[in-house]
Amino acid sequence: MPKLDRSRGIFEAAQKLIPGGVNSPVRAYRSVGGTPVHLARGQGPLVWDVDGNEYVDLVLSYGPLILGHADPRVVEAITSTAKTGTSFGAPTQGELDLARTICERVAPCEMVRLVNSGTEATMSALRLARAFTGRELVLKFDGNYHGHGDSFLVKAGSGALTHGAPDSPGVPTRLANLTLVAQYNDLDSVRAQLEAHRGQVACIIVEPVAGNVGLINPAPGFLAGLRALCDEHGALLIFDEVMTGFRVARGGYQEICKVRPDLITLGKVIGGGVPVGAYGGRRDVMSRVSPAGDVYQAGTLSGNPLSVAAGLATLRATDEPGFYARLESLSARLANGIEAAAKKAGVPCSMGRQGSMLCPYVSKVPVTTLAAAMASDRALWTRFFHAMLDRGVHLPPSPFEAWFVSIAHDERTIDRVVKAAEESFASAKANVSVGST
Ligand SMILES: *Cc1c(COP(=O)(O)O)cnc(C)c1O
Repeated sequence: MPKLDRSRGIFEAAQKLIPGGVNSPVRAYRSVGGTPVHLARGQGPLVWDVDGNEYVDLVLSYGPLILGHADPRVVEAITSTAKTGTSFGAPTQGELDLARTICERVAPCEMVRLVNSGTEATMSALRLARAFTGRELVLKFDGNYHGHGDSFLVKAGSGALTHGAPDSPGVPTRLANLTLVAQYNDLDSVRAQLEAHRGQVACIIVEPVAGNVGLINPAPGFLAGLRALCDEHGALLIFDEVMTGFRVARGGYQEICKVRPDLITLGKVIGGGVPVGAYGGRRDVMSRVSPAGDVYQAGTLSGNPLSVAAGLATLRATDEPGFYARLESLSARLANGIEAAAKKAGVPCSMGRQGSMLCPYVSKVPVTTLAAAMASDRALWTRFFHAMLDRGVHLPPSPFEAWFVSIAHDERTIDRVVKAAEESFASAKANVSVGST
């Protein structure tokens, strides 16, 4: 079991100054218990904590680090840019280069606006959709995550077709009422909402691959069905590709599913590990964004030179021949290895995977819905998590977060994870609760 004395010390002190000791809730290990590992350093597929323990990292900052940690090309881009100034509040060439790269790779993006986070991207896209359609309601899916904007922190109301209710104190009920909630992979639930609120829905926002409840792929025809329903009801279709963009394919999931949304939100990979977000789409819609149009949206640090440099360096690296094929082969090796390890230990496993995003649910039934994900065996998964940590594998501390693979995770590293998984499934199955202390 790794010694976590220094991590514990920092965590205890931080809890007095930072709510819960962390700047984003999942990092506090509330769903698995134990001391959150505090990291000091990363290189390629590996990270080291403040106590000196080494781990293979499958968190990768929850998605951005598609090249692994401290990739020399990204580090060089950031350091050379920093030497010439970190922010100007005036436009720069780099912003044009990144916009061009995005629009070239993501077909539905005819124009794009850079912001500072995925949350900002979805909030801005929602305002734009409302302005463009002159409608106020938005439809989202239960279990999809779009950042922490008020309109998205909404759960289904008491009846199936009622308006949404706040999912956090501080979200006004009257605002939550403007969000409708439907079920992912269930077109009937979408159709029913649209029919009950005819002519009032501005947009449907969807994670084309649900990556914030583990990993659930869209059912065949689901995304095309959303497109058709949007067309029928005059609503815009927004793909939230903050997680999938540039990760599952060169152009994101829209390239794979061949369904064309009106707007796309991006983040994570396009910043290469530095804060960034973006929203883009149809020219006639994006032309409404100020100052070209009348829909206000701004940002002191938007298009920041460091973010743009890190993003461009990352996207350039993914353009090398065979990049996504190599990433796919490494990810398949990991997924197959994990499935085999679970089988060997007699642990039921339903593998959700799209390219280099994956989630092995401890479940006897295939996980294709939020309900099935929620019904997976969290207790066994939690023991598995701690057993993996003890064996030097850094996983997201929740059964409902996707694991990520980078191009720096070579076969040897993957096999190290698989070996740890064989032992960890066996120990979790035997109910040996070791739990890092
Ligand atoms: C991470 C994520 C967001 C939020 O992005 P932040 O940069 O954390 O604000 C929005 N949508 C999806 C699909 C995400 O995965």
